[in-house]
Formats: sequence, structure tokens, C-alpha cells
Amino acid sequence: MSMVRKPITPKPPRTREKVLVILQEQCKQCMLCIEFCPKKVLCLTDIYNRKGYHPVTACDIDACVNCEFCERICPDMAIFLADRDEAEKAFKAGALQEGTVIPEFEGNSPKEDEK
Ligand code: SF4
Ligand code: SF4
Repeated sequence: MSMVRKPITPKPPRTREKVLVILQEQCKQCMLCIEFCPKKVLCLTDIYNRKGYHPVTACDIDACVNCEFCERICPDMAIFLADRDEAEKAFKAGALQEGTVIPEFEGNSPKEDEK
């Protein structure tokens, strides 16, 4: 048995290849994405969109694992994962359509009970 201790290598920081994008004007508050997200990333806002629904946001975007369950389950294509670089370019250029939220670039939205 070796008496030499193996060096402890810190894990590299987790990077997500894609970013979560939410089209809040398309959200119909069905809550399927909230229910199916395995990491409890998503929650409802208390704002109203033009359809009169409370759209989804990310209350804990750091927990997102890019699994795409939310994208697959959403009946209204209101939530999806996008290429990080392209999304960042559009975000910085202000080229996102109205009601588009990219929580990772904007910081986490506060949870309802923290407001
Ligand atoms: S990609 Fe997966 S972990 Fe991230 S918000 Fe969607 S369902 Fe949740
Ligand atoms: S599944 Fe789609 S429409 Fe339903 S709450 Fe989530 S984002 Fe909104």
C-alpha cells in the first residue's frame, strides 16, 4: 500500500453549455415545467403577461443541469435552452423579443416568499 497521499484536485467549475430562455409572453402558466424540472429551478412570477397569466421564471438558475425537460414538456414553446454565445450576443445587443428572459444573464429572480 502506497503511503503517498494522492493530490486532491478540485473539480473544475461546472459550466452549462446552454442557457435557459423563457418567452414570458408565450407562457400560459400551466406549470408543467415547474412540476417536471428535476432541480426545482423554476417558479411563477407575480407579474402578468398580456394574456393575463403569471409567467414562469427561474428562482434558482444555478441549479439548472441543462436536461431540457422543461423545453420538451412546454406545450407553448415558451421555455427552451439556447446556445450560450448566441444568446449572450443577442442579450448584449438588446435584440431579444419583448418578454424574453434569460435568467442566467439577469441574475436570479427573487422567490415569491422573498418579495
Ligand atoms: S433544463 Fe432541466 S434543470 Fe434546467 S430548468 Fe429546464 S427542466 Fe429544470
Ligand atoms: S410549461 Fe410552458 S406554458 Fe407551461 S408554465 Fe412552463 S413555460 Fe409556461
